[in-house]
Amino acid sequence: MIRTRFAPSPTGPLHIGGLRTALFNFLYAKQANGEFFLRIEDTDKERSKKEWEGEIFTNFEKLGIKWDNIPERQSERGEIYKAYLEKMLEEGTAYYCFATKEELNKEREELMKLGKAPVHQGKYRNLGLEEALKKIEKGERAVIRFKCPRNKEIVFNDLIRGEIKIHTDDIGDFVIAKDLNNPLYNFTCIIDDFEMKITHIVRGEEHIPNTPKQILIGEALNLSIPTYAHLSLILGKDKKKLSKREGSTAVSDYLKQGYLEEAIINFIAFLGWNPGTEKEIYTMEELIKDFSIKQISKSPAIFNIDKLDWINGMYIRKMDIDELTQRCLPFLEQKEGIDNKKVVEAYKDRLKKLSQLIELTDYIYEDELKYDKDLLIWKDAPKEEIKDCLNKATDIIQNLDNLNKDLIQEELSKEAQKAPSIGSFMWPLRVALSGKKASASSAEIIEIIGKENSIKRIKQAINSLN
Ligand code: GLU
Repeated sequence: MIRTRFAPSPTGPLHIGGLRTALFNFLYAKQANGEFFLRIEDTDKERSKKEWEGEIFTNFEKLGIKWDNIPERQSERGEIYKAYLEKMLEEGTAYYCFATKEELNKEREELMKLGKAPVHQGKYRNLGLEEALKKIEKGERAVIRFKCPRNKEIVFNDLIRGEIKIHTDDIGDFVIAKDLNNPLYNFTCIIDDFEMKITHIVRGEEHIPNTPKQILIGEALNLSIPTYAHLSLILGKDKKKLSKREGSTAVSDYLKQGYLEEAIINFIAFLGWNPGTEKEIYTMEELIKDFSIKQISKSPAIFNIDKLDWINGMYIRKMDIDELTQRCLPFLEQKEGIDNKKVVEAYKDRLKKLSQLIELTDYIYEDELKYDKDLLIWKDAPKEEIKDCLNKATDIIQNLDNLNKDLIQEELSKEAQKAPSIGSFMWPLRVALSGKKASASSAEIIEIIGKENSIKRIKQAINSLN
């Protein structure tokens, strides 16, 4: 059975890159009817915060990424790591290292002078465990290092990049724990991947140098080794590493701005993957069906906000209006007599993200509009002509017995034909109703705010021209 995992460190908000990693692991597992696990890598006690852990859970819940386990926290698994560390120390695949910082610095400098890679040579690798324990008892400080096999090639087959080879002499004896109770990432990671029976790991390319280390530890302990797939970076439109320059990188900010969950998932899936067809709009179910690691690109993905806007627009327009109205509520004011569904209907065709509604629709809910009265003037039409048109519009609205936008539009258009120009009738009316250069159409506004309110706004406009 295929089992994947997402293993975030809860040291900050969930980022676009993290979400992509999680999504790809989720899709890969679900496609094979497998399981997707969450593991919280909170061994960095200072930087890990419960708040960030909670943020990961809530974002995943919103986005429809479901995990199949009770999420494990590495901070609660100390005994497991300790047992494995002790085993390695006893078997001699790990050892206590007493080298001081000064010693290590000196070693590094000397190696560099000789033009060699600054890889730790392992001064203490042959000191027996008993002797090491005696030194520790005497109060000497030690870290635990992996006894890296010499002169060996580590080869693994990356599902995205193909064969990756690393020579152990370029790795050296690396630290796997500060002490028995403080294991480090590479160690806890491979132990947990084994203990949780993870079969496949999709993660960012920044982990490529870690993978051989994890494989080496796994081999030393005789563990089964998962299959790896390393994703390329996500770059901004400027081809530089994605950062705040391009807007936020935090997933929650996109949710707050009113990007629909479905659109975010759809967009993220295309950061490095594509189906090899023209199809660009994908539901989660469709992604699960069509996703394939083979179709993941080795070259960096480009984060293009215009594409997200476009996808979001597609979802907005295709969504059932009641459902969409529900999703828009956080961005709409509430006012008696105003049917928010109608507001959403009037705006849905031009929305890129739901938060735009806040600014676009504020006038609908206001009791009294404030705007520059010159805005009412159409081109160089005289004031009297504008007032006349507004009065005619008032009469039409007064006589409406059905407040349906299409019928209202019909009546207004008829009257506009009779006016000196269509603009000199339609423009001032829309401005009177909205106070804005751009808004929903007059008919839509009248339908939304009602007869009485519409007439009140038009009268105000006429007065302001006196
Ligand atoms: N905690 C690591 C990270 O957030 C996990 C890396 C991995 O997937 O192994 O980068």
